[in-house]
Amino acid sequence: MVSLGCPKNLVDSERILTKLRSDGYEMSPDYAGADVVLVNTCGFLDSAKEESLEAIGEAIAENGRVIVTGCMGQEAEQIRARFPDVLAVTGAHQYEEVVGAVHVAAPIPPSAYLDLVPERDLKLTPRHYSYLKISEGCNHRCSFCIIPALRGDLVSRRPDAILREAEKLVAAGTRELLVISQDTSAYGLDLRHAAYPLKGGGEIRADMEDLARHLGRLGAWVRLHYVYPYPHVDRVIPLMADGLVVPYLDIPFQHAAPSVLKAMKRPANEAKVLERIAKWRAICPDIAIRSTFVVGFPGETEADFDYLLQWLEEARLDRVGAFRFEPVAGAAANQLPGHVPEEVKEERYARLMELTARISAEKLAAKVGRTMDVIIDEVGGDGASGRSQADAPEIDGQVHLRDAGHLAPGDIVRVEIEEADEHDLFGVPVSAEG
Ligand code: SF4
Repeated sequence: MVSLGCPKNLVDSERILTKLRSDGYEMSPDYAGADVVLVNTCGFLDSAKEESLEAIGEAIAENGRVIVTGCMGQEAEQIRARFPDVLAVTGAHQYEEVVGAVHVAAPIPPSAYLDLVPERDLKLTPRHYSYLKISEGCNHRCSFCIIPALRGDLVSRRPDAILREAEKLVAAGTRELLVISQDTSAYGLDLRHAAYPLKGGGEIRADMEDLARHLGRLGAWVRLHYVYPYPHVDRVIPLMADGLVVPYLDIPFQHAAPSVLKAMKRPANEAKVLERIAKWRAICPDIAIRSTFVVGFPGETEADFDYLLQWLEEARLDRVGAFRFEPVAGAAANQLPGHVPEEVKEERYARLMELTARISAEKLAAKVGRTMDVIIDEVGGDGASGRSQADAPEIDGQVHLRDAGHLAPGDIVRVEIEEADEHDLFGVPVSAEG
């Protein structure tokens, strides 16, 4: 399995592998040992498409028996034109079809093992953290995005099913649940926020706050990704202040200038976001806010960009990622006037990164001397690296520990912070929760 793209795609890969495993297949660690190679593609940006096509080419060269699935499966003709030898092409979330294609490409002889179902799902992430996908699709129509065209409108999973999956994950060793979707704040809208009975009594509503509260009671860290600053998001902040949910919000703001947000057709595009952030910080002073921004969107003027920098200076977000605008085939934004020259995009990108690195360094420096919980990701020699509650895996910073060789991945320990740089913290464990 070659899995590309975002965590949402990773969850799809895990589901496909789980189904295949329960059908009696085994994973091969390399191309050579595989009867068939599955490439789960990403089609979000043209650069991601190119990466997907390269991965298909490599799989064909190395193995020759290739099935393509994922977002690029929507563009079967393009794939078949370039790689006429691919065995099958299926689209995103078509689990049955992918699994069916594997059965045709690599039939397994009947055996007693077919009845063996694994006790828990196969995961591509380490055992101690897991992505939890709560919905598919999106009701928004941001002008730079083709996700709704690829994946359709919002379809929420039932909250009782999500909770059951989370319970299983925690029982199997997960200590951090990363809640993902295209728009977590919209969760349950399509289910009209209905209540569902729970096996042990009580009920759970299809609503972000109620779901977060139930997940928080499982004892693992619960981290919310892809949330938009709607008024009802205010309701999850007290859960963070109470320690039920990690005080962290991943909000892809993308821009701050009103004219650019309007051209982007962004959800929750209102002027009061800075006030809302201030209110959240008053309730939960430790809240870490992570966001991504696009620079050089069509029509972005120097004044719009300055507005964004000023906004960032005021918002003082904890973590910021940035992209230079890249047209995605099929996105409405490509037709917008005022495309920004590449060298201007580069220059704006560099200015934005410089500013946000300075803010990040200042915020991290203020943590020196404090004590905080850190979840351990890796141990090597005498040291270890992990993350505070302000850091999601892969995308945020790390906490590097000395005198920590006795720890194991998944441990949550109290750490005293001794130093900081632009992105990471450095410290020493002061006690182990284990
Ligand atoms: S919120 Fe906008 S960017 Fe995100 S998936 Fe929906 S349409 Fe795309």
